[in-house]
Formats: sequence, C-alpha cells, structure tokens
Amino acid sequence: MTTEIIRLTTPSHIFHNRLLMIRLFNTLSGKVEGFESLIPGEIRIYTCGPTVYDFPHIGNMRAYVFEDLLKRFLRFMNYRVTHVMNITDVDDKTIRGANAQRVSLHDYTQQFIDAFFEDIRILNILPADFYPRATEHIPEMVKIIKALLEKGYAYERAGSVYFSIDKFPKYGRLSKIDLQERKIGARVDVDEYEKESVHDFALWKNHKEGEPFWETEIGKGRPGWHIECSAMSAKYLGQPFDIHCGGVDNIFPHHENEIAQSEASSGKKFVNYWLHCHHLVVDGEKMSKSLGNFFTLQDLLQKKIDAPTLRFLLLSTHYRKMLNFTLDAVEQSRAALQRLKDFVYELENRPFQEGAGADVDKLIEEARKNFIEGLSDDLNISTALAAIFELVRKANILLGQDKLAAGDARTLLGLIHDFDAVLGVLRSDKEPDLSPEIQKKIEERENARREKKYALADKIRKELLDMGILLEDTKEGVRWKITKK
Ligand SMILES: [Zn+2]
Repeated sequence: MTTEIIRLTTPSHIFHNRLLMIRLFNTLSGKVEGFESLIPGEIRIYTCGPTVYDFPHIGNMRAYVFEDLLKRFLRFMNYRVTHVMNITDVDDKTIRGANAQRVSLHDYTQQFIDAFFEDIRILNILPADFYPRATEHIPEMVKIIKALLEKGYAYERAGSVYFSIDKFPKYGRLSKIDLQERKIGARVDVDEYEKESVHDFALWKNHKEGEPFWETEIGKGRPGWHIECSAMSAKYLGQPFDIHCGGVDNIFPHHENEIAQSEASSGKKFVNYWLHCHHLVVDGEKMSKSLGNFFTLQDLLQKKIDAPTLRFLLLSTHYRKMLNFTLDAVEQSRAALQRLKDFVYELENRPFQEGAGADVDKLIEEARKNFIEGLSDDLNISTALAAIFELVRKANILLGQDKLAAGDARTLLGLIHDFDAVLGVLRSDKEPDLSPEIQKKIEERENARREKKYALADKIRKELLDMGILLEDTKEGVRWKITKK
C-alpha cells in the first residue's frame, strides 16, 4: 500500500497574470504568433502517429515527448485538450513488411502497435483521447475522395485517384516549395517523396496483386497515406481545429497534402497552428541502422538508461532545435534529474518544525512566473527549467541553514509537483503507475466537474474508489491516492 500523492491539475496556477498569452511558432506563417483557441478554454490537437512497420526509434519518441509537453502545458494552463493521434496501419511500408514476413497486414502491424503503446507508457506520455487506425476508417476516406472528384480537384487514372495540385493554388504554402520545379501532370504513387519532385499524389491506389484491398464506390484498392489524416482529424475534431503537430519530416509532402485534401474537399480552413519538431541525431550524425547508431527505447533501457532520464533529455532541448543525443547529454540529464529528486527527498523526509519559517512565497511566485512565462514563449524549456533549478538552488541554501518550517516544505513540494504535472519526470520506477484507463477516468471526472455535471462526477469518483483510487479535491486541484493494491 502506498499513499503517494500526485497533483494532476492546478486551477490556482493561472496566477495573477491571466492576460499572459501563449505564443507558438506556426510553420504556416513562419512566425511566432499569439495563440487563441477556436473555442474558449478548449483546444483540439491532432498529431501524426506511428506508421507501424517497425519499432519506434528515439527520434520518433522525441516528437511524441514534445507533443506531450505541449499538451501537458496547455492543460496546466487550464485548457481542456482533446488529442487525436492516428495509427498508420496500411501504407507502402506496412504492406512491404507484412509480405516479407508472409503474415497478414493486421498481424504484422499489431506487434508494432503494442510496442508503441508500451513505449509511450514507459516514457510517461499521457494517452491521446483517440487513436484511430487507418484500416478502420476507409469509408471516411472514400467520402473525401469522392468529394474531391466531384469538385474537380481529383482525377482517375488506371483505377487510381490522384490529387491535382494545379487545381489548388494554396499548394506549397506550408512547406514553401518551389512549384516551378514541378512537371505538370506528373504523378507519384509512392507515399513518401522528396521536395525536389513535386507531383500530383495518390489519394487512392488501384488494387495490385499481393496488396490488401477494399471494395468501395471509387473502386477496388487501398488508400494513399495522406488521406487518412484528413479523414480521421475531421471525424474526431471537426474542421477547422486548433493545432496540428508532427516532425519536420512531415511538412512535405504529408502535411502539405493533408491541407490540400481537407481544404479542397470541404471549402473550410483545415488547421490554425502547425507545430513541427526538429530531428534527433546521435553523436552529431543522422541515425541509421548501417551506422550502428540507431536506437529504440528498448535498446536504451537495456543500456541502463532509465526512462525518466530519457524523457528529461528528450524534452530539455527546445523542440525546434536539432537534438544531439550523446552519452554526455544522458549523464547531464541524469544529474539534473537527481538534483531535483534529492530536493524532493529532503522536503519529504526531513523532520521539519511547524511554525514560522522562512518566507518562501516570493521564491515560489518568482519560480512559478518564470516557469509559465518560459513555456508560454513557444515552449521555451530552457527558461522553464532554469526557473525550477534556481528555486532548488535557493531553497537548498535555506535547507542548509535549517530555515525552512514544515509549511514551507509542503508549499515547495506542492510547487514541484505542479511543475512535474508538465514535465512528467519525477515518477520513478518504484512509484505507482496509473493505467491509461484510470488516467482517462480521472480526466473524465475533471471534465464533468468543469461542466458542472456533478452527478456524473460523483459516479466516476465512486468507480475510481472501487478501483482503489481515492480522489481529493484541494484548493490547488485534484490529487489522487492509491488506497489498495
Ligand atoms: Zn498525418
């Protein structure tokens, strides 16, 4: 039995400066912009998920950790976030892999889907609200392709359907490609291609021997890669929605094509803010299996690099900068995290006296302000981390002088847990791990409370209690305790 308490949400954190605006770099405009959600207090996010043809590598994980940081920060700022991440379980690569192993596409992809969920659990990435799979959304894709055909944005050749980029004048705006280079009328069937070869791209691919297929109104075949994100984002988030994330690799052609499909078919704007995470390199070089510097999360865990250290490392470089993964960087992350853990340990275990102590309010206000201002500035993680470590440094001096009272320790601990609601690095392997099912229930209850549906909130609270999770509503937000194992 354990009574570990973790603070989940902290309404009181929207400190004195309610006018503080979150600013984000929008790839579409090429500028840092003030962020405004379409619906006040609510944010809808779509992030491109894994293509499940192989185990995810740490470059993929970097993007997922960045998206998790963004999502946790927006929640910390009291937004209700709805997050959709797709799973690409049919495309050129998955089909090739399944055929090579002589197993069904479903069996082939399932092993990598399981591995993906295990990895994000280990890295303490909050689950998305929806994980739609491409193979389960073929009718939705066909509907968009039909609309594109009817409106003249798409055409059929030899049983396949292509998007005509000349018909969509905005094509190229996101990636700033040079459309002069294109060969008019040239087409491409492959799912991924380089900027240098701008082409009409496949929305639907005619059936080929040895490939999975669906019988549909637009013929027998299978979707191109890009159409799934247009179809599934519209289904779960509507159009337009607030934020679309991915890696810089996704900008062209994938996201460019998503915009073309969604906006041409619906006549509406697709997405307001596009955020892209930069590459991860290992010792300054691009990861590749042939160079022997290609790592999955499991590879690194086997090298005795623990998950919180990895998570800290992955989020501590600003998302728009190249992240250089080196053993030195691992050691630095480990040391920084240890400093934070030692601080928490001291606050939790020293026999502090009740009564008047040092005045830590000013320290706390300053740290909170700098942390929030840093992350509000296009997720400036360096500023946010500096705020935390400056607080640790100053509080450690007070600790060394025995100047802290029990109340101070509690307040400091509360603040560190608030910060960790965003960073997600303090959970050690020994600490309890809430299953995605329980996390989701806690979130549902929070939402019910926010919407003043108290009967529903109470019902979920009881269900959680039966599962051994006791929720406590405090002034600072909701905390949970495990009451039984
Ligand atoms: Zn996508």
